[in-house]
Amino acid sequence: MQTNNLAKTYLLNHSRDELVQFVNSIGIENYRADQLFKGIYHQLLPDFNNLTTLSKELRKKLNDSTTLRTMVLTKTTKSIHDNTTKFLWLLADGLKIESVIIYEGKRTTFCISSQVGCALDCKFCATGKMGFLRNLSPGEIVEQVLLMKERAENPPTNIVFMGMGEPLLNLNKVLKASFLLSDPEGLAFPRKRITISTSGIASGIRKLADSDAPFSLAVSLNAAIEEKRRRIMPVSIKYPLDELKRSIKYYVEKTGKRVTFEYILIAGKNDSKEDADMLVKFTHSFPCKINLIPCNSLDEEYPAPTPSHVKWFSDYVHEKHRTVTVRLRKGWEIQAACGQLYSENNSKKGSKVSFV
Ligand code: SF4
Repeated sequence: MQTNNLAKTYLLNHSRDELVQFVNSIGIENYRADQLFKGIYHQLLPDFNNLTTLSKELRKKLNDSTTLRTMVLTKTTKSIHDNTTKFLWLLADGLKIESVIIYEGKRTTFCISSQVGCALDCKFCATGKMGFLRNLSPGEIVEQVLLMKERAENPPTNIVFMGMGEPLLNLNKVLKASFLLSDPEGLAFPRKRITISTSGIASGIRKLADSDAPFSLAVSLNAAIEEKRRRIMPVSIKYPLDELKRSIKYYVEKTGKRVTFEYILIAGKNDSKEDADMLVKFTHSFPCKINLIPCNSLDEEYPAPTPSHVKWFSDYVHEKHRTVTVRLRKGWEIQAACGQLYSENNSKKGSKVSFV
């Protein structure tokens, strides 16, 4: 199934400046671009029918040549325990992606996707099993947020690129989307509260540092012993821990920012005392915070440790003067937790990167 919007100009791909150029190109006065931008981001308009500051004729002209929505919601799944809500979206070309809203006290986190599937094949991750199908456009990234905002119980307090895909392999579009979401004339979402999370693409971390983008960085580390990391995250073959460490150091020195390390705890694979010692050693030279996440994989080969072992690991790392928190398994039972996103794409198999 496809939507019929492929031929129209997708305005969510346009920055404010590009919107000015676009309205110019179809013979509309420049100042109208501001009205359109506000309609799109303040009123969350799905089209221009209700933008009454424009004449009927102008609204028709815009509706005929542009679109503000290319995604269709095909399924919503809500956790009865904590209201975590997962959305399955149908894209204009018939592919599907997922995004999630997580409610936690005063925080409402929108977890969004940057790619359809992912090539990196982390062993504990359902998205990795899909392979990579394509990058999302800036508009498709922005649209996830706008559509979830319409449906959320509270406005988002945090936006994290921890859905499907490796954001640093789609960096330009991820950055454009993040700038659009934080544009002061639009949603004005706080820049520091947009987190780009990577599996450890060292070259991308350097590029992000060089871009001077004001967003936050999280690194999904998951093992600080090389052989172990390679076994669960093949990306470590191309970007070994030493190189990853140098790129993070470069990022921290260039931006002056703190990094968050995500560490998925898998029983018997990366949760020993030696693993904890190596984690402390790896993170020793950075201002950082460590998030421990009991593994959410449905694969029996990647079980979560017992709660008491998670506590032991957390206390041990904490005693070594690291800031550490344990992330609750929100949305686990609806497969909305970290590493669980997956969508069938008409049996299309995506590509995987081979690092060997
Ligand atoms: S954890 Fe992230 S980088 Fe790894 S396969 Fe899943 S989506 Fe890709």
